[in-house]
Parts: sequence; C-alpha cells; structure tokens
Amino acid sequence: MPLLQGKTGIVFGVANKRSIAWAIAQALAREGMRLAFTYQGERLKANVEELCAALPDSLILPCDVTSDAEIDAVFKEVGDKFGGLDALVHSVAFAPREDLENDFVNTSREGFKTAHDISAYSLVGLTRAALPLFEKSGSGAVLALTYYGAEKAVEGYNLMGVAKASLEATIRYLAANLGPKNIRVNAISAGPVNTLAARGIKGFTGMLKHHAERAPLRRNVELEEIANAALFLISSMSAGITGEVMFVDGGYNIIGL
Ligand code: NAP
Repeated sequence: MPLLQGKTGIVFGVANKRSIAWAIAQALAREGMRLAFTYQGERLKANVEELCAALPDSLILPCDVTSDAEIDAVFKEVGDKFGGLDALVHSVAFAPREDLENDFVNTSREGFKTAHDISAYSLVGLTRAALPLFEKSGSGAVLALTYYGAEKAVEGYNLMGVAKASLEATIRYLAANLGPKNIRVNAISAGPVNTLAARGIKGFTGMLKHHAERAPLRRNVELEEIANAALFLISSMSAGITGEVMFVDGGYNIIGL
C-alpha cells in the first residue's frame, strides 16, 4: 500500500515547477496523500492550477502568510473539504532584495521585520491554525525548509540567514510544545537549488559551483532528493524524530577545511 494512502496535507510555497514545494508535493502525492496548495497573489494562481491539473482531488487556495485572515480562511476550507489534516509543508521565504544585497550592517528595520514575519513567524501562525485539524487526525507532521546560512555566515545570504536561524529555533520550540499532542516538527536544510527565490541571492551561481566542488558527493543535490527526504520526515517512517534539522546537501556541512 502507498505510504500515505488516506492521508491529507497542505503545501505552502509552490511558485512554479522548479519550486522545492512542488517537488515535495509530487513525492507526497505519489505515495497517496491528498493535497491542498496555496499560492500568493493572482500572479501565481495560473501556475499552481496548471501544475495541479495532474492531481484532480487537490484543493487550491490563496494565502499570503502575512495575513491572519487568509490563514484562517485556508484552514477553514481545508477543514470543510478534508475533515482533518496529517501534514503541513512550509516552503516559504522572503527578504527584500536590497537587504540581501546591501552590507549586512545596513539591514533595515523594516526589512528585518518582513523577513522574519514571512520566513519564520509564518511557521508559528500556520501550525497554530492547523492544530485543530491535526488533533482531529490524531497526529501531525510539519516540515519547513532551511539553509546552512542559518548556522554559519554565508556571503550574500545575509538577512535570510538570520531569519533562517529564527526558523530553526522556532522548529525546536514548536516541536517541544506540540510533541505531547503527537505533532512532529522538523526541517530540511537543503543545499543550493536553482529556484526563483534562490535567484534573489547575490552570487548564487558561484554558490552552486562552490557547493558542488566542496561537498563530499562532489555535486549539488537534486530536487527529487530533497523531496524524498521530505517524504521520510512526513511519513510514519520518521515517527520517532522531531525538532530536527536534517541536511540534504551532499554532505557539504560536515566539511571543515
Ligand atoms: P520558490 O520556488 O521561489 O519558493 C518560495 C515561495 O515562497 C514562493 O512560492 C513565494 O511566492 C513564497 N512566498 C514568499 N512570500 C510569501 C508570502 N508572503 N506568503 C506566501 N508565500 C510567500 O523557491 P524555493 O527555493 O523553492 O524556496 C522554498 C523554501 O526552500 C524557502 O524556505 C527557501 O528559503 C528554502 N531553501 C531554498 C534553497 C535553494 O537553494 N533554493 C536552499 C535551502 C532552503 P512568491 O514567488 O509570490 O514570492
């Protein structure tokens, strides 16, 4: 029987076919999970609808994660259509371009707030809204996406690294808080992948090349490899794991010199 037969999930962060969220959604759907997707703004609606045409029982809803009203509306609709919920994928991040490109010392107050609101706080808001639906299902698995720049200073990653550090701490606190309800919260720290969001990072092409040269596997990771790790962290195969940040980076993070 497929691993996730009869299970339901919601995926935040599909922008196009290269999105990490889309790769994860395909892996979850392949194993039988029924999925809801959200998109931010009309601009992305057509993209998401086109991709999801292959998943006829999916649900597609608008959601800007900075809006509590939109978050509430999403989970009300998911509750009405799915009954309960088993999984939530958070694959959303944003920082203003100028705050990524400027010297870090010049990071603006507004940019700092925005980056943390969209890239870290949203995990709290979304998980809280999902809670009653997880409780209906008797368990929940939350997965977020992060990057090594949360742990070490990575040139060009700047403000996003600070927001990811906040996201990773948020994962641990949510996991500690919600573990007694049988809700697990984990993250994948992915090596660099060429997506829309990645193109906002100055010097991203150099970053890809550097990772491929230095990582023990001597290459960059594939979307499918991130998606399969996500499948593991969402399915009962990882039932004993919570609060973890798991690297899927070809081993790059273990190298000292
Ligand atoms: P992506 O395809 O551009 O996905 C980022 C998503 O975040 C987009 O769908 C974007 O929508 C959405 N988003 C931004 N602001 C939002 C808001 N206010 N409300 C709702 N959604 C919003 O890029 P990706 O690389 O797959 O990124 C997915 C996740 O993986 C991010 O957390 C990223 O930091 C993480 N990650 C990426 C890499 C990499 O190298 N690509 C490595 C490690 C971790 P818009 O396009 O409308 O802004």
